[in-house]
Order: sequence, then C-alpha cells, then structure tokens
Amino acid sequence: MSKLSLDRILQSQGFGTRKYCRTLIEDGEVAVNGTVIDNYKSTIDTDGLVLTVFDEEWRYRQHVYIALYKPTGYECSRKPSHHPGVLKLLPEQFTWRDVQPVGRLDHDTTGLLLISDDGPFIHAQSSPKRHVPKVYQATTAEPVTDALVAQMLSGVQLHDEPAPLAALVCAPKGEHQLEIVLEQGKYHQVKRMLAAAGNHCNALHRSAIGGLQLADLGLKEGEWCYLEEEQLGLLA
Ligand code: URA
Repeated sequence: MSKLSLDRILQSQGFGTRKYCRTLIEDGEVAVNGTVIDNYKSTIDTDGLVLTVFDEEWRYRQHVYIALYKPTGYECSRKPSHHPGVLKLLPEQFTWRDVQPVGRLDHDTTGLLLISDDGPFIHAQSSPKRHVPKVYQATTAEPVTDALVAQMLSGVQLHDEPAPLAALVCAPKGEHQLEIVLEQGKYHQVKRMLAAAGNHCNALHRSAIGGLQLADLGLKEGEWCYLEEEQLGLLA
C-alpha cells in the first residue's frame, strides 16, 4: 500500500505542476474513486485508485507502458528536427510524465513503437544484450530473389560494423515483400542491409516486438494503448 497527498498523486500522473494540480483540486475538478475531494493535502491510497479529472477517468499508474501504432512522418527523437515528434500523438499528460520512445523507428517507418516513463524498463529493452527479435515487413524496390534472401540470412557487411549482420528470418511474402526478423537494432539496419544486399527498401513496417503483435492490439495508425502485465511479458 502506498499513501500520498492528492496534489502529489496528480502531479505524478502528469496533470501539470504541483501548483496547477492544487488549483484543479481546490476547484472541485478532481474525484477520487468517484468522490470529489477539494483538499489537496488529503492522503490517498494509490492501490487501485481511479481519478476523475475534468470528467475523465484515469487509473493511477506508477509507470506507463504504451504501444503506439506509429504512422509515417513522425520522428522518434526527443528533439525532433524535420518532422513532428511521436510524443505529439499522445495526450499532453504523458509529456509531463517524461515518457520516451523505447528505441527508434525512422520517420518513414510505420508500426509498433513502445513508449514508457520507466527508466530501467527502457534501458533493459534497448540493451544490445537483450536480443528481443523485432519483426519487420519490408517493401523492396527490386523483386525479391533467392540470392537476396540467402544473403540476408548468411550475413551482410555494413561499413561501420565489425562483423556481418544476419537476419534471424528473411521470408518472401510477395514479389516485393519480405518479412525480416532482426535481433539487433542498429541504425537504419533493415534499409542498410537491403541496400548492401543489392536491393532498396521502399517502405518499412514493424509488426511485432518479441511475441507482442501490433495486429493483436486493435490499433489504427496514430492510435495508442496501455500495455498491461501480460502483454509486457510477451516482450521477454
Ligand atoms: N531498420 C530500419 O532501417 N529502419 C527502422 O526504422 C527500423 C529498422
């Protein structure tokens, strides 16, 4: 059980500065498990807590784990330079919680992107030691050949890598379609591997991370959802 004052709770959930959260509470905009509480010093048990703020319900979460269906045209960088940042696709509250993308997808890559405010989780997921397979659907400029598939599976030398990188899986899915599974997450890895193998990637989509399939989340492009414990278990 963890007990905190209501203004601290609101601030921890990303509703704004402590001062602003106190104003919201004093204005009667905050209900705790269905009952309006206007004293910001009230101590509240966070276990199973549901807050209502401006008539919208929010379950208390110590950390958030989010799956976003990233559309094309958004950058994963925290300081985007040429395109809007992916965090713009989430409610402002998450920015206050200091969430960040877990790893990166290129601005023109679509698909499953994890976002969290849990530092150790982000670190663990991004660690090169982790080897969580990432599944990509690539559309190639030139037709897929047996030679291309063989090269992707046996290893492709990229100029800044000490050793060739190989795909775990490289399966033709159409004349210009490949499913590629990688365990590493090197910069532009799919595009650079395809280029080094003599083809070119025209479009790229990440369909799964570990056992977590984007298609199972029921999201449309640009939409997000929370990931619960069972789904996080699929990332192992
Ligand atoms: N590989 C790439 O080339 N781009 C991505 O966005 C992800 C993997």
